[in-house]
Amino acid sequence: MNRIYLDHAATTPLDEEVLAAMLPYFSETFGNADSPHFFGRKAMAAVDRARDRLAELLGASPEELYFTCGGTEADNWAIKGFAKAAKKRGKSRVLISAVEHHAVSESAKSLEEEGFSVGLLPVNEGGMVEANALREALDEDVGLVAVMWANNETGAVQEVKTLSQIAKQSGALFFTDAVQAAPYLAIDLKSMPDVDGLSISAHKFHGPKGVGALYVKRGVRIENFLFGGEQERGKRGGTLNVAGIVGLAAAYEKTAKLRAETNEKLAALKNAFLQRLQGLPDVVVNGKNTLPSLLNLQIAGVENATLLYDLDLSGVAISAGAACASGSLDASHALLAMGLDERQAKSSVRVSFGRENTVEEAERAAEILKKAVVRLRGL
Ligand code: PLP
Repeated sequence: MNRIYLDHAATTPLDEEVLAAMLPYFSETFGNADSPHFFGRKAMAAVDRARDRLAELLGASPEELYFTCGGTEADNWAIKGFAKAAKKRGKSRVLISAVEHHAVSESAKSLEEEGFSVGLLPVNEGGMVEANALREALDEDVGLVAVMWANNETGAVQEVKTLSQIAKQSGALFFTDAVQAAPYLAIDLKSMPDVDGLSISAHKFHGPKGVGALYVKRGVRIENFLFGGEQERGKRGGTLNVAGIVGLAAAYEKTAKLRAETNEKLAALKNAFLQRLQGLPDVVVNGKNTLPSLLNLQIAGVENATLLYDLDLSGVAISAGAACASGSLDASHALLAMGLDERQAKSSVRVSFGRENTVEEAERAAEILKKAVVRLRGL
């Protein structure tokens, strides 16, 4: 069967050039980057090169980047580490958007047990946090505001720069989870001076799984999250994942180079897919101002989990629910926060295209989806 993969928001295939760049660090250059001898120094030189290149591409300084074991760790660290640092300045309230990934929302929830209070910033029907909603929620007790750059379920892109300015004016730190945004939106941290922290994850842009980075703006205090060795300037213990770090930088570099052309291609794929769906009644696109790669469709009369399994049998991979729990049967909290009711949320699916997809695949997948929906609605 010629399977079609349309779940790039969950993960992307590893790019072959990225794999080639990583391979030497599994074999001949195997040293522990923190060892002072030749083997260690050679590994650390690769880490340094990767850090320098990634920093340059993100508009950051190398010492503002910390490598992590992915987006989840970076988000956990940011939420807990920034909140705890802010508490030392007497601020014990955290505001997060109502559509955050669980890596952020569950981290915030865990802080409640430590005496923090957590507030949810509402989103409008397009999935956006409005500037006024943030202004209204801010008070002098708020030490941290977290609003993701692009949502993993709808692809809705937030006005991160504006929101970060508002948070900063009120004396709060601002963190953004850019795990979904990083592949498609150019990140230039120099032009966003009010963003104090940002997370990325390599496997969302054709890099390896299990490696990511946290940006912490120079001079901003963050408490440690992983305790152990003195790695990462004493801020994050753990032997460095040298091959993964090399892969992260190589994958980001290639993604940034191809970004404009990829986005154009993705828009064409999305368009071809939607064109083929025309004629199928009661289909609504959820979310406004969305990533070029992502389409969240509310398909009345169909349960998303049933549709997902049906399409899987026909060779098309899509998702229902959050990126990291694609088989989840719960209604999406992000869609509920946008005002959908339980039934509407449970009839919504996420289709996410990637740079290796073809227009022919997009069209074929749409035809398969259409047939499945007609069949399921008739049952
Ligand atoms: N944040 C967002 C918005 C995500 O979509 C994901 C993964 O789907 C994560 C964080 C977690 O990243 P990782 O899979 O690298 O742990």
